[in-house]
Amino acid sequence: MEQTYFTAENLSYSCPNFSLTASFACEKNTMTSIVGPSGSGKSTILRLISGLEKNAAATKIILDSVNITHLPPAKRGMGMVFQKANLFNHMRVDDNVAYGLRSLGISKKESREMAAEFLKKFNLEGFGKRSPETLSGGETQRVSLARTLITKPKLILFDEPLSALDAPLRKKLAVEIRSLQEEFGFTAIMVTHDINEAKSVSDKIILIKDGKVGWQGNATDFSEKMIE
Ligand code: ADP
Ligand code: MG
Repeated sequence: MEQTYFTAENLSYSCPNFSLTASFACEKNTMTSIVGPSGSGKSTILRLISGLEKNAAATKIILDSVNITHLPPAKRGMGMVFQKANLFNHMRVDDNVAYGLRSLGISKKESREMAAEFLKKFNLEGFGKRSPETLSGGETQRVSLARTLITKPKLILFDEPLSALDAPLRKKLAVEIRSLQEEFGFTAIMVTHDINEAKSVSDKIILIKDGKVGWQGNATDFSEKMIE
């Protein structure tokens, strides 16, 4: 039988006012949303998965048949997209997108060409020479996503990537992320506090309540009742 693509067993974290334990799994080429109230532990889960937070002895994280529990963040094969994009303002948009390729040893010329191809796919044709400071909020998040996807991470972690945008744009970008996901076939876990967004972009939903998994299952089976 084929192994589950991503499993996180006994993620755990504790600090004086908060403790968390969670286990879940994701299949390849799917989008999983983590939802729950503010302070419930959603970002902490992403930090534990990415290695930014130290894991406990009982934790076991497997990604694409590799035990990554004790690997440093950069060696885990993951990409991250945050609410705030962290683009480098002193670099052109295409060099921002190419940044991850450059660190893989690909030449400046080749990486810029690949970045230009990518920008086209993200409806950002002709944006390559611009400074990130000239972009709108939505364009910035698209560049940020392009920069992450270009290195083909095994797993993408999104922490409220759209929450700084206004409602109509959020909706539009959520649909775009979903269609890019189908086109590129990436596997992602997305934290959001917007239930409708979670239902519209994801295959699976995990509800976190007070540091525990309150419910998990198919996005189509999720209802508001689960939250109460
Ligand atoms: P969410 O992303 O769901 O809003 P977080 O994962 O950021 O929640 O935080 C979960 C809880 O952990 C919160 O109550 C937060 O105050 C607490 N917390 C996180 N990191 C620390 C820390 N370094 N020190 C104290 N409390 C923390
Ligand atoms: Mg958070």
